[in-house]
Amino acid sequence: MRQKIVAGNWKMNLEYNEGLYIFSEVINMVNDEVFGIQTAIVCCPYTYLHSLAQLAKGHSKISVGAQNCHQAEAGAFTGEISAKMIRSVGAEYVILGHSERRQYFNESNELLSKKTDIVLGNSLKPVFCIGETLEEREGNRHFEVIKTQLNEGLFHLENSHFTQVIIAYEPVWAIGTGKTASAAQAQEIHAFIRQEIASKYGREIADATSILYGGSCNPKNAAELFSQADIDGGLIGGASLKSRDFVDIIKAF
Ligand code: PEP
Repeated sequence: MRQKIVAGNWKMNLEYNEGLYIFSEVINMVNDEVFGIQTAIVCCPYTYLHSLAQLAKGHSKISVGAQNCHQAEAGAFTGEISAKMIRSVGAEYVILGHSERRQYFNESNELLSKKTDIVLGNSLKPVFCIGETLEEREGNRHFEVIKTQLNEGLFHLENSHFTQVIIAYEPVWAIGTGKTASAAQAQEIHAFIRQEIASKYGREIADATSILYGGSCNPKNAAELFSQADIDGGLIGGASLKSRDFVDIIKAF
């Protein structure tokens, strides 16, 4: 079944105690109020995963995720973190292909397809990010870019694995810029993504896939974005660093 999901991406922000405090506040608010979502995920730095996963235990609507992982199962990769390690501390999700990793760490679609395999092979769910740059949109190449990211990063998966994937459409020009895609712009791309999935995996799987929007989503614009037929929630950067804002976005459903 298609799930309504709001995921926070803390990136390289917050010290340990601040993170624990904010996460505890989110848990308390989500427990106290009634929401229309199935899952709220907080993707924190690796070093906080275990503590947050412990806090999330027993809270059915809150989960914890990492922001990246290495593509190998294990081995001599000094400083890296494997999917198995992430799983072993109680996390359930991993963001893959965030535009900051594509841009600053040169992550290619080919590399991301390997990371997707290792994440799924370790019973974690990828939140797989795709999206065009401003230049690509202005050159009217956004559909082509999205299609290539899907084909090369995800569409090698067999059905049983693909159904575990959450997709996040994040136009790069909207991330951290305060410039949100309009609800109509976002819906147009989400419908295109769903159609591409339907062509590859069939209508039933396409209809069951959660496709999140990310890019300057905040408590003011979330309701309009989330009311679109093909937008199933959000991947939230800046606004996830404030518990009230994050919970207000969750409540936008
Ligand atoms: C993100 O980094 O995934 C993101 C959507 O950031 P922001 O909400 O700050 O634009």
